[in-house]
Amino acid sequence: MLAKMMDRPLLISSLIAHAGKWHSDQEIVTKTVEGPIHRYTWSDAEKRAKKFAQALLKKGIKQGDRIGTIAWNTYRHLEAYYGISGIGAVTHTINPRLFPEQLEYVVNHADDQFLVIDTTFVGLVEALLPKAPNVKGVIVLANKANMPDVSKLRNPICYEDLIASESDEFAWPQFDDNSAAALCYTSGTTGNPKGALYAHKSTIIHALAQIAPDCMGLSSRDTVMPVVPMFHVNAWGTPYAAAATGCKLVLPGRHLDGRSIYDLLTSEKVSFTAAVPTIWMMLLAHMQEIDGNLNDLERVVIGGSACPRAMMETFQNKYGVQVLHAWGMTEMSPLGTVNTPKMKHNGLGEVERMDLQQSAGRVLYGVDMKIVDEDGNTLPNDGKATGELKVTGPWIISDYFNLAERAEAHAEDGWFSTGDVCAIDPDGYIWITDRLKDVIKSGGEWISSIDLENVAVGHPKVAEAAAIGMPHPKWDERPLLVVVKTQSGQDLDKQQMLDFLEGKIAKWWTPDDVVFVDELPHTATGKLSKLQLRERFKDYVLPTVTAG
Ligand code: ADP
Repeated sequence: MLAKMMDRPLLISSLIAHAGKWHSDQEIVTKTVEGPIHRYTWSDAEKRAKKFAQALLKKGIKQGDRIGTIAWNTYRHLEAYYGISGIGAVTHTINPRLFPEQLEYVVNHADDQFLVIDTTFVGLVEALLPKAPNVKGVIVLANKANMPDVSKLRNPICYEDLIASESDEFAWPQFDDNSAAALCYTSGTTGNPKGALYAHKSTIIHALAQIAPDCMGLSSRDTVMPVVPMFHVNAWGTPYAAAATGCKLVLPGRHLDGRSIYDLLTSEKVSFTAAVPTIWMMLLAHMQEIDGNLNDLERVVIGGSACPRAMMETFQNKYGVQVLHAWGMTEMSPLGTVNTPKMKHNGLGEVERMDLQQSAGRVLYGVDMKIVDEDGNTLPNDGKATGELKVTGPWIISDYFNLAERAEAHAEDGWFSTGDVCAIDPDGYIWITDRLKDVIKSGGEWISSIDLENVAVGHPKVAEAAAIGMPHPKWDERPLLVVVKTQSGQDLDKQQMLDFLEGKIAKWWTPDDVVFVDELPHTATGKLSKLQLRERFKDYVLPTVTAG
């Protein structure tokens, strides 16, 4: 028997329609690419998204067509998100930090019809276009006065000119909510990037899950600043979740250094922000220098890679900001887990609470999880057994976009293989030890590179650390710790580093060597690139090997 309920599709346009109608006076603040602060409201944003939507329709854009964006977090990019998806086309956000050949690959693989770009990326797109023959034109997010020299772009279009003559009255089209809405590629640490193609429905369900108190707890009383770029898994869903709540939104533009972020956090009284640990490292270093404070900031989401304990302690104990440690991936829209306590944790002391927060979070309603051994057998959720993490749920991809060789291995039996290794405890908290390809195998046992790194960065003279497995004739692999010293910690030496680790890690985890470098390689999403690091150290031989 069918229910008697309204059959209303869950479309992305309904988010901005809600915010534009019922939070019409709430502000969206942007640090523009040109420099000055721009302010307008959710109502303005919806009107302009409608203008852009109609301009795209006039350009012949149809449902399912892909439009690439190469842009920072700004109000115009937000309008593009809603304008494109709102008419059933697909917003393909592109990470400008991909290597040129990867950029070329994703634009062609997605078959982008137009590119929507910030002025910063004109040069990058000039170089790309000769290799992207299907792109019909490039829409530059600027007004006439700020248009750069675009003479070398194919069919360049000034965004403000394009939308100027369009009406802000437009009925968002209604269609099947299983239709594609947005496309993000993984940064492709090995091989070509792979596309995750999100649906309208999956995006809305993800947004609703995201705003719940046991997840990010967003509300109309928040001022939300996604520092995580809108080209990194849709800024982790915040542009959608923000519209669902009608909160104040602050978009930081192109400058993501510690000082720029600090200035916006304080001047706009941001209560909620989110980014990868690398960003927060820069913010905390800047605050240390200027003796700053974060009186308005309540919560910071830290994810994308493991949040070091020392970073968490600084945010919480020194600045009074609650850290929400989160785990997810492009293929999961991206949220998998967020670390919030349960009722049973009410009485925990400071140290125990911090211990619990080391977990990358606990299972949310909407995502189910299990860990399996190398033969695919399910392991117990006892907080001890570790295995590969598999996930299932309505905002997780069933397959990659247009992949010639179907990725069945990724979603066999309806479970997606994450490639992460973790333990799950009976409360659903996950304890990630590594990516499968980064584990250090010593004498048949696994050493967690993440745990080693986290302990190492707890040393006040360590800015960043990476642990990788190096070949060893007896043990198979042994850990090498590669360390970047802080500016004031240049006198740190190997012995001091090893002394610091002693007692904090199992003895057999002790790195066979510590090497100091000026900087560590990072991926396009600001994470440590173990692949590049292993490449850099491919001729390196551990002293324990040469010693026999
Ligand atoms: P990429 O950075 O490869 O483009 P993603 O942003 O999708 O792609 O990265 C997802 C991966 O990041 C996860 O599979 C996991 O290995 C890692 N990751 C994300 N959050 C955490 C976390 N809190 N702790 C440890 N690893 C994490």
